[in-house]
Amino acid sequence: MKNFYLIKIGEISLKKGNRKSFEKQLRFNIKKKLHSPSKITIQRGRFFLETEEEDINNIKYALGTTPGMVSFSRAVKVEKKIETIKKAALNFAKELVIKYPSGTFKIESRRADKGFSYTSYEISALVGEYLLEELPSLKVDVHNPDWIINVEIRNLAYVYGAQEKGAGGLPVGSAAKGMLLLSGGIDSPVAGYLMAKRGLRMDAIYFHAYPYTSDDALEKVKTLASKIAPYLSGLSLFVVPFTEFQLLLKQKAEEEEVTLLMRAGMVKIAEMISKERDGTCLVTGESLSQVASQTVESINYTGSETNLTIFRPLIGMDKEDIIKIATKIDTFNTSILPFEDCCTIFSPKHPLLKPDTTKLKKSFIMLEGEELLKEAAEKAERIYFRP
Ligand code: ATP
Ligand code: MG
Repeated sequence: MKNFYLIKIGEISLKKGNRKSFEKQLRFNIKKKLHSPSKITIQRGRFFLETEEEDINNIKYALGTTPGMVSFSRAVKVEKKIETIKKAALNFAKELVIKYPSGTFKIESRRADKGFSYTSYEISALVGEYLLEELPSLKVDVHNPDWIINVEIRNLAYVYGAQEKGAGGLPVGSAAKGMLLLSGGIDSPVAGYLMAKRGLRMDAIYFHAYPYTSDDALEKVKTLASKIAPYLSGLSLFVVPFTEFQLLLKQKAEEEEVTLLMRAGMVKIAEMISKERDGTCLVTGESLSQVASQTVESINYTGSETNLTIFRPLIGMDKEDIIKIATKIDTFNTSILPFEDCCTIFSPKHPLLKPDTTKLKKSFIMLEGEELLKEAAEKAERIYFRP
């Protein structure tokens, strides 16, 4: 095989009886993103990927965006002989020296096979000495090195250099399935990313109020869906025509109640589509008190209009922290494109801050909008985004 990678899994290794199913899911999710034949073997705490894939950038992308691993490194596996290990380390060192010409280094060794004739300390010392002989410009710094070469002695010897950060968390598909309410804003893509890292598989749903919201707004949501797709291990986006329900609200609802009744309409449609897709929960980008519809009272009301649990992973987060994650997953610059949102167009000047759930539930019934919601759900268009 052309390329070999060592992958460190994090939280999965804490699993006991059901660890195998998490491992199997992670293996499946990684392979789904690679375009060429690949093989993944598993040893306690480690995955080893052998792949025919030549495009290193795609390998890095595949590994860097798949929840369930903490880090990954290009590696080589060699015979368990100290001379062979030294040579393998030298190859990595030669690459790293180009990157850090006057840099310092350290060898970190780990001996899982206690039958190997050198201790971890001895392996590090021997390999380190050899590198100093071969590349005299090098210096050792065990406390704060510029780069590290790792040696692991297992069934074979594994040698690897730089470790790249993984997404962390658990593999998508290890938890149940949910429906992400994906708007064009900053928050909901981040909410989807965070739930994916807890293993939740998701579809997404977008409420589109054409022509009050433009095709540009829809394109923006599609771009966001494509950007989170790798983390979610692929997703289907349901685009729901929402205009008729919005117009019904404008016509029949008290102005101050419009936003919350609209939210209720959204969760009800999301629930209908979700149930057809084996979904058992909803996910939103709500954050406590960020806007009027996200006060405790407002959230209590919208939650009461569905039987599904609503996960709100951003509930306790500051906007600043949300933006940091949005920047990291590259959704921020798309989210801030100035295309109007269906909620802003129809939103009242003075929305309710402390709604009375019982009163709002009655208002919702008075709308007699259930048929309209059902029709909207049926007319939803599904678009699939590959991981
Ligand atoms: P976001 O940045 O995610 O748009 P927001 O701060 O703008 O959130 P709201 O507009 O109040 O907050 O929306 C709260 C949540 O409701 C969103 O995070 C999203 O999950 C859902 N939502 C709002 N509008 C839509 C929409 N048009 N389609 C799908 N979901 C939506
Ligand atoms: Mg929004």
